[in-house]
Amino acid sequence: IYKVFDKASMGSRSSERLQIEADLRKGLERDELEVYYQPFFSLDQQHIVGAEALVRWHHPTNGLTSPVTFIPIAEETGLILPLGRYVLDKACWQARSIRDQLGVDLPISVNLSPRQFSESGLLSQVAAALDTTGLPAELLILEITESVVMEDLSGAREVMSKLDRLGVRLAIDDFGTGHSSLAYLKQFPVREVKVDRTFVQGVADSPVDLAIVRAIIDLANAMGISAVAEGVETKDQAAALKLLGCPVGQGFYFSQPLPAQEFSELLTGHLAAHPP
Ligand code: C2E
Ligand code: MG
Ligand code: MG
Repeated sequence: IYKVFDKASMGSRSSERLQIEADLRKGLERDELEVYYQPFFSLDQQHIVGAEALVRWHHPTNGLTSPVTFIPIAEETGLILPLGRYVLDKACWQARSIRDQLGVDLPISVNLSPRQFSESGLLSQVAAALDTTGLPAELLILEITESVVMEDLSGAREVMSKLDRLGVRLAIDDFGTGHSSLAYLKQFPVREVKVDRTFVQGVADSPVDLAIVRAIIDLANAMGISAVAEGVETKDQAAALKLLGCPVGQGFYFSQPLPAQEFSELLTGHLAAHPP
């Protein structure tokens, strides 16, 4: 369904990048971006326990465009700042409206890029989003990657502590793919780790992947950190993860990322079948 631009040619053809940048700038003004939501499921009862906000771009000529294509360009050009603000606000409104209309407190996860994380206005931006939407801080989860933490340990510690004091929760995305210094999990206010899709893919049939996933889940459980397996695509993977004691899964096996309206409908049906 997506037009993903050819990555190899993208790097060499800077005019294409410039074009995407110009288009994205216009796209932001013309409201061409949309936030999709992909639910998280508890692996024991298969209840919806949260959702991740994932941005999409309705490009006027290329159609529905994957963030893999434009997030790196947005990051380089600084367009990630207005884009990130847009996603954060939308996601907070969505969580607030779920709370009002469906009467459930569903945490919403929002991805933060390295540049957003190191931007000085981040804290006030997050505080403002919570304030204007009236969303309780504990219903917002911010996902960052290991590289963001490892690049500047003391800077990251300071920002993370401030966000933690605000009451929002921090998750480490794509866990296991970066520098993976396990020590930082102890030193930083991390509430959640997302086991990278590349390990989850092999969890049901590769002994090495199984061992890696088990190690991450055991570590998280021992530290009181919530583990979320991303990219769960099969029943066997979900079953293996459940056996390993992983509490939560996310992936195409459970649901694709959905537009807000479809996500609300899914959640409504789900709540009718499994009252909270
Ligand atoms: P991510 O945060 O690790 O998000 C998970 C990605 O895996 C999403 O891709 C999701 O659609 C995809 N996915 C979910 N389940 C499965 C599955 O079972 N199998 C497979 N193969 N893939 C699955 P998506 O939406 O294309 O986003 C890609 C990346 O773009 C995200 O990775 C995130 O790093 C970034 N991104 C997306 N939205 C935002 C945003 O609003 N802000 C920032 N800074 N980055 C974003
Ligand atoms: Mg993520
Ligand atoms: Mg991820």
